[in-house]
Amino acid sequence: MAQAPTSIVWFERDLRLADHAALTAAAERGRVLVLFVAPPSVAAGWAPGAASRWWLHHSLKVLQAALAEHQVALQVLCDEPEQALQRAVEASGADAIFCSAPLEPSLQARNQALAAQFDDQGVDFVEQGGALLHDPFALRSSAGSPFKVFTPFWKHCREQLLAAPPAPLPAPDRLVDAGVELPGAATVDELGLLPEIAWDEGFYDAWQPGEAGAQQALEEFIDTALRSYAEDRDRPDRAGTSRLSPHLHFGEISPAQVFQAVMDSDLEAAKYLAEVGWRDFGHHLLLNFPHTATEPMDARFTQFPWRDPDSDAQAAADLRAWQRGETGIELVDAGMRELWRTGWMHNRVRMVVASFLTKNLLIHWSHGARWFWDTLVDADLASNTLGWQWTAGCGADAAPFFRIFNPDLQAQRFDPQGIYRRRWLGSGPRPDPIVDLKATRARALEAFAVIKQG
Ligand code: FAD
Repeated sequence: MAQAPTSIVWFERDLRLADHAALTAAAERGRVLVLFVAPPSVAAGWAPGAASRWWLHHSLKVLQAALAEHQVALQVLCDEPEQALQRAVEASGADAIFCSAPLEPSLQARNQALAAQFDDQGVDFVEQGGALLHDPFALRSSAGSPFKVFTPFWKHCREQLLAAPPAPLPAPDRLVDAGVELPGAATVDELGLLPEIAWDEGFYDAWQPGEAGAQQALEEFIDTALRSYAEDRDRPDRAGTSRLSPHLHFGEISPAQVFQAVMDSDLEAAKYLAEVGWRDFGHHLLLNFPHTATEPMDARFTQFPWRDPDSDAQAAADLRAWQRGETGIELVDAGMRELWRTGWMHNRVRMVVASFLTKNLLIHWSHGARWFWDTLVDADLASNTLGWQWTAGCGADAAPFFRIFNPDLQAQRFDPQGIYRRRWLGSGPRPDPIVDLKATRARALEAFAVIKQG
């Protein structure tokens, strides 16, 4: 009798077993060779930052253990994907490669080339969706173009979801390992993803990377915080949000699983689902307007008179003070320290620190985005670009540039008892503010007048 066919399942940013269409399809065909290729694939120029690498290490370990329960090995090859997949195909005789469709434009182009490479050899290269709630190339406005405004985007997307609710797949009952050991395979430890200097202690208390940790975070959120999300989501002093962002970024949970669990709870969840919708919107923008990872969506801002830390020593010192949480502005410093210690920052505070950098300090948003990229465990090209351009006022559907957050008023409003600020600043002496909020606000408005005239 002919042996069941062997498929390679290539894991990238989809580190889960449930609702994993590529894994399920491969398991239904026959044997599987489960592969991770390192260094982790990322969009050109965006190698994962230190915090993301920490997360990835632990998530891979969890995935490896979950596969081991099915007697399946997670094999790791350190090579370019073209060569790694080629080696895996040759060693296993696989006639198909299954993977999840990537979410960055440059990785989509890479996969097209891979599909052609393997097509020539008679090996199917099959991409499955699942990382988003919508198809970014199918959802279109009535004018037939990609959306640039969130409200109509989400209205369309939500209507489609309610009409045909997503039905997440269960984890496959049965997986059969191809039983091939790839020559030259590495261990997860050998990837050297963990930091050499132990700055990551706080991360262990804050997070449980992996699929089980993601499910637990979702359940806890639904049980405790979903019902008050609409009021509490802006309060950094409360545990009012789901903290699912790194789990979603690494694909330890799919947005369809989140959508279904929230709908099943029968709680009022429109506000929460709209926030998950912003994640989809960020990807819709990045995939349809790939240049926006480095260029502002609003082209007028290419003319904006940003201060440049590469050529202006004072701007460089200001940027450093911001990164270290030493600006003397309490809410900004608290946020930057939360980020450093836990790899995450509350959304309200992200907006405040980003506004302070781009408007009060007049430093180009890309410097902030790069710092976030290195320090966030949820660093995500689409959501980070969206968040920075939104706050800087140069993105799609962005806050207007002239709306400048006053961090002290934001603190009074959203951290009224100072609980959040004390948590991250402690009670020691505080540095003097590096800038005057009023004067720098006026400077920003003046700078903005230049592009208004332009
Ligand atoms: P919840 O409030 O529980 O929301 C649930 C999920 O919805 C989140 O996990 C996230 O996946 C999604 N979501 C919520 N708000 C947004 C949003 N504004 N934009 C996109 N998705 C959203 N998010 C990232 O995942 N990665 C980033 O690199 C990132 N960079 C940001 C940079 C700036 C300057 C700003 C202002 C926001 C950024 N965000 C980013 C968006 C947002 O701050 C985080 O997604 C959110 O704080 C994560 O916490 P949570 O999981 O508790 O969110």
